Amino acid sequence: MCATLDGVRVAIMEAGMESTPTPRSRPDAQRIAGTVSAGSLFGIPVRFHFTFLLLFAFLVAFGLSGRQSALANSLFIAALFGSVLLHEFGHALVSRRYGIRTLEIVMFPIGGIARLEKNPGVREEFWIAIAGPAVNFVIAGALLGYLAATGQMVPFEEAMEASAPNLVERIALGNLILGLFNLLPALPMDGGRILRSLLARYRPEVEATRLAARIGTGMAVLMGLYALITFQIFLLFIAFFVYLGASQERAMSIGKSVTQGVPVRAAMVSQFQTLEHGQTLRDAANLLLATTQQDFPVLLGDRVTGMLGRQGLLRALAQDGPDAYVSGHMDRDFMRVDPDMDLAEAMPMVAAAGSAALVMHEDSLLGLLTAENLTEYILLRQMGLGKEPA
Ligand SMILES: [Zn+2]
Repeated sequence: MCATLDGVRVAIMEAGMESTPTPRSRPDAQRIAGTVSAGSLFGIPVRFHFTFLLLFAFLVAFGLSGRQSALANSLFIAALFGSVLLHEFGHALVSRRYGIRTLEIVMFPIGGIARLEKNPGVREEFWIAIAGPAVNFVIAGALLGYLAATGQMVPFEEAMEASAPNLVERIALGNLILGLFNLLPALPMDGGRILRSLLARYRPEVEATRLAARIGTGMAVLMGLYALITFQIFLLFIAFFVYLGASQERAMSIGKSVTQGVPVRAAMVSQFQTLEHGQTLRDAANLLLATTQQDFPVLLGDRVTGMLGRQGLLRALAQDGPDAYVSGHMDRDFMRVDPDMDLAEAMPMVAAAGSAALVMHEDSLLGLLTAENLTEYILLRQMGLGKEPA
């Protein structure tokens, strides 16, 4: 079986990645590595992770030894994966109603994910989360209704045994299971999101997240134990990712609670090194070694013209050697944030970009905002240290 485990997105991706308001038009920063395009539907790109294609091939081949025909088996698997995809479109289309764009829908072996450009508010999250399972219930209802109307229903116990005549009924039951499974109130899953949204009506959002995440980790442990006892490897995987996802949601909500209302300037790196336009990659490499800094602003006089990060530097060195100029390899499309921007807003941007943001007021460079520094800031704030909100 296949679960559409949206929650897994949190575990698979960098925290906050999903909630990325992308101010920059850098396509590779918006995509998950290892995926292939499968076109788009309703204007939303659909991609498959390569491991998903492996699983698909495996399931089709595995089913060949069963009692049903190869065709019926392939149809069954394709229909279930199609249902998972439609489930994701349920999320994506309701998000659109709230003005939240879906960057892409990605199919993983353990389920699909709809990556939204930013996190919905708690009230919106309720409807976005419930839309996925609702799609599965509608599919199940329509198919079962059709079977009942045409007198083709067989008892559910018989439908468990795979055969060509009960194919449609199995697809219907598969959708029923998908919908119910995703309603489990374990936070990164749809049910957990619904639970958080309901809890948030009566208490602060951070507290609601914390409580829902605690229930999520608890359920993941129970699910994992059950999977171990019954030797269900697949379920064990899911339990593992739910656990990771719930822990991450919790960490993110704590991060959010201590960064909300705090300006970027309170957590930025204010002592840093820069590169000059005319310097070479050798100079940059020396600076990389001599400091703990990973991203270097490149200046032309007082003006910031770009940024050279560790990855870009290594790539440039391999490509053009140490005597090439930094100006030829720097990133001119760097991310910049205002010193008075809310840290809670800047945090997911930095997490998604995987590089530092330059803190700039008009044309002057004030500091760097890095993931490492943000982590340190959050830790210190939890201990009662760090600069208080101005
Ligand atoms: Zn879902």
